[in-house]
Amino acid sequence: MSPQMPPAHPFDDDKLKEECGVFGVVGVTDAANFVALGLHALQHRGQEAGGIVTHDPKTGFNQARRMGLVRDNFTSADTMEELPGSIGIGHVRYSTAGNKGQTAMRDVQPFFGEFSMGGAAIAHNGNITNAVALRRELIERGSIFQSSSDSECIIHLMARSMGRQIPDRMEEALRKVEGAFSIVAMTRTKLIGCRDPLGVRPLVLGKIGDGWALASETCALDIIGAEFIREIEAGEMVVATDKGVESHFPFRTKKSRFCIFEHVYFSRPDSILGGRSVYETRENIGRELAKEAAVDADIVCPVPDSGTPAAIGYSLQSGIPYAMGIIRNNYMGRTFIEPTEQIRNMGVRLKLNVNRALIKDKRVILVDDSVVRGTTSRKIKEMILDAGAAEVHFRIASPPTAWPCFYGVDTPQREKLLAATMSEDEMRKHLGVDSLRFISLNGLYRAVGEAEGRNNASPAYCDACFSGEYPVAPSDMIEQGFQPRTAAE
Ligand code: SF4
Repeated sequence: MSPQMPPAHPFDDDKLKEECGVFGVVGVTDAANFVALGLHALQHRGQEAGGIVTHDPKTGFNQARRMGLVRDNFTSADTMEELPGSIGIGHVRYSTAGNKGQTAMRDVQPFFGEFSMGGAAIAHNGNITNAVALRRELIERGSIFQSSSDSECIIHLMARSMGRQIPDRMEEALRKVEGAFSIVAMTRTKLIGCRDPLGVRPLVLGKIGDGWALASETCALDIIGAEFIREIEAGEMVVATDKGVESHFPFRTKKSRFCIFEHVYFSRPDSILGGRSVYETRENIGRELAKEAAVDADIVCPVPDSGTPAAIGYSLQSGIPYAMGIIRNNYMGRTFIEPTEQIRNMGVRLKLNVNRALIKDKRVILVDDSVVRGTTSRKIKEMILDAGAAEVHFRIASPPTAWPCFYGVDTPQREKLLAATMSEDEMRKHLGVDSLRFISLNGLYRAVGEAEGRNNASPAYCDACFSGEYPVAPSDMIEQGFQPRTAAE
């Protein structure tokens, strides 16, 4: 493994991973600095690589792509001087469907294309579920692909369009695409944002001085001092210039199906989703969980950091004291570039440590956001028992994750998901805990603001990784043998 290529952190590997964050700005001096800051705020959405494209009338399009973190790559004066201009977009990535866990330089976005009416760059968050079929067709018709990324199809489809302007070409290209896309794109003067007809992945619009910004999450607007204006709607395309923002709805809009897992885990707790802070929603999830899955215990501890708001909610609802029974070392980051076997065996202890004084002889409720493979949950349980806990009760702030995501989130194959092969009680035995309860799907819907729970005839969110009901058929995966949920399951 190249030292330039940080591996997935050995102790982060039991979480679903959001694959990308996107950001763009127009109408500001030194756009690249704003883009770098925005990407830094979105780093939780992808840590393997990042890229920035800007345009300046004197130098034309300027591009920089790097492996690793934004703070290590887009802070030096040298790099930023190579990216002049008042318009720019950027992308951080984990890895794409085409190249899981192993980012290659050629897959780092934004992608750039030179068209007869000028250049355009695009940054894509999501996943195109018919990319294999599209790529096959495009290659047969003469396209030469440079990367293994599904997103590159969009550039080739734009190249084949007869549209007179770049936004027209994007529209035509995206009508052929299935799956999830939140896209930030740019021409010499236009910043373009669009979301797929279901609005699966987030995208927000902000205002900064006389300029405009687009970002995956509002936390990236905050860092540059931009005012949050609104979310881009499902099926909407906006074109922002120095003169203002134009909006239209070129993609057939159905009822939106935003990713419910953004509320549980992917988005930063200080971001706003659906008009409410993600933190507040997570606290609500903890409250619902306490109502549904009460247990007699002495303390409620989060699995930090992502379980913290839900643990606080559980504690407030149940009246059981909240305690920081597990402390996370936030400086671990990805510093162990190539951990030795001995260090790997220390596992989760390198990142999390038990606060023995709080745990000893206590009946402990541990609140975590999700259980994927269960490997980390088992290790945490061992640490808690080693510290002298009298009982360990797991409470999970999402329903059992039993199905893979095909909309821009890295998930293990279905058979590796604990909930795909075991009942709740089998999982409890496997994890070796006194009790294990997940929030119900209805409880999760209530916590995110759907008072009546899940409307099974017309759900308000994508919840496919819990329900197995995919709002867009993952056609490439079905062709490769994946079997979506059947009526009998
Ligand atoms: S399958 Fe799960 S993670 Fe993927 S978009 Fe739907 S809710 Fe989100």
